[in-house]
Amino acid sequence: MDEQPLVERLRPFDATIFTEITALAVRHRAVNLGQGAPGTPGPDEVLEAAVDAIRAGRNQYAPGWGVRPLREAIAAHQQRHHGLEYDPASEVVVTAGATEAITAAVLALCEPGDEVVALSPAYDSYAAACALAHARLVEVPLSPPAWRLDPERLRAAVTDRTRLLLVNTPHNPTGRVLDPDERAAVAAVAREHDLVVVTDEVYEHLWFDGHVHVPLAALPGMRERTLVVSSGGKTFSVTGWKVGWACGPRPLVHAVHAAKQWLSFSNATPQQYAVATGLDLPDTWFDGYRADHAQRRATMLDALDAHGLEATAPEGTYFVALDARQLGPAAARIAAGAADGPTDGPTAGAQAAAGDTADLDGLALCRALPAAHGVAAVPLQVFGSDPALRPWLRLAFCKPHDEIREGVARLAAVRDAA
Ligand code: PMP
Repeated sequence: MDEQPLVERLRPFDATIFTEITALAVRHRAVNLGQGAPGTPGPDEVLEAAVDAIRAGRNQYAPGWGVRPLREAIAAHQQRHHGLEYDPASEVVVTAGATEAITAAVLALCEPGDEVVALSPAYDSYAAACALAHARLVEVPLSPPAWRLDPERLRAAVTDRTRLLLVNTPHNPTGRVLDPDERAAVAAVAREHDLVVVTDEVYEHLWFDGHVHVPLAALPGMRERTLVVSSGGKTFSVTGWKVGWACGPRPLVHAVHAAKQWLSFSNATPQQYAVATGLDLPDTWFDGYRADHAQRRATMLDALDAHGLEATAPEGTYFVALDARQLGPAAARIAAGAADGPTDGPTAGAQAAAGDTADLDGLALCRALPAAHGVAAVPLQVFGSDPALRPWLRLAFCKPHDEIREGVARLAAVRDAA
């Protein structure tokens, strides 16, 4: 058999960074600030509803579109939180997490060679979805440290092959929430070029300090061209359930369903009933969820500050982006060691071996941190091709407070070990 049976276009996506870093974190019993897997249980009502659904025998195939109570709950949620109206019978489809909704949208809407324009750094499944569809991901860089969208860069990225705009806000991994000017700019480009927009809103309930998340679909002329994607796994801290959805005008949702049915056909039935229960929780629950994460964010920012590490307060999501050059020459030396080691990371070079932070390789550093300092983080450079991402790390704060503090202390110890 061929030694490398994986088709060439999928080879760059062989193992996701989350799989790799989490495996290292487990092996070295590290505090895992890498993967965005919540360290908190979901709401009791939601967990109980899943158990009840299993006991009630709701264990056979769900309809491909999703069980009716969930589709109704999704439509009611969109109306209550965002003022967006969707017909649960024809404008909502349930998917295996937001991931499947996005992949199905790209597969369903892109011909080979079509271009998908996305903000970069971009959640890593986007590029893989494009590879599956023989489409091309075109990045619009958000540059550190402000990570703002430059409308001119967005305009410049659109060509006559552009089929989709894929826009994630609140944004993983930078923690940005697109502001009214940025939202208006995206909408203007979409309307001018008559593009379909896929909005990844899995962090729709996680915004802070008045950086309110407003779906692009709520802007004039946008509902009719937008597929809104979100995830019950994210909102209810049950990421292992993989229950997500897409809402939009009937033809777009119909197209997503057409692709989705050949990916998974349908999704776990009891969890769909449970997510419906979650979506119907009162506003006080959603406010409490946001307040709880605001506290974890404060714990993360306070811990970084206490150790003299500077980071911009994220406007949304549960991630903080950190410039690891602040960890000093020791970080570069650790990274260089990892690059020479068995994990075979990209060579950090002689400069790094000498402890020069100017060219710090965040990927090599993240590969080394679990063994060297008992902490795991994710490198931003795997989310995009902009060289400016190279020294940046992503830290997740959807974790118990003591884990956040311990993880940051271990990270800071890198610098102090110099
Ligand atoms: N989009 C973004 C921006 C994400 O951060 C994630 C999860 N990390 C997903 C999509 C995937 O969501 P799901 O687990 O529902 O597939």
